[in-house]
Amino acid sequence: MPDDCLFCKIVAGQIPATKVHEDDETLAFADLNPQAPTHVLVIPKRHIADVVELAKDAETGAALLRGIAATAEASGLSEFRVVFNTGAQAGQTVFHVHAHVLGGRRMQWPPG
Ligand code: AMP
Ligand code: ZN
Repeated sequence: MPDDCLFCKIVAGQIPATKVHEDDETLAFADLNPQAPTHVLVIPKRHIADVVELAKDAETGAALLRGIAATAEASGLSEFRVVFNTGAQAGQTVFHVHAHVLGGRRMQWPPG
């Protein structure tokens, strides 16, 4: 794991997080700065930088999708938005791939 990766530290238990769902390959935890009534981040436990790198690992990609579905169910959401910010210009600030799962309010389109 890269020493300076915030989300690897959450996986390792070195930084606290409010867990929403966990399985062998993925972890879901509440976003510290929520943008909707429910805002959960779903990550692979293995360090992968972004969704382009994730696309090279089909097993982990499928596991992340299952983690997203399980997170929505655990959060009581049947309707929700999933966002992967990819690259600094798109708003990615943590370079350990994460799906934002947002719900509990009407979403606007286009996003900002
Ligand atoms: P992004 O900007 O797409 O890279 O998303 C990073 C997200 O991580 C932001 O929504 C932050 O609010 C969130 N975040 C940063 N630090 C933490 C933390 N320690 N625990 C939970 N969420 C965090
Ligand atoms: Zn990491």
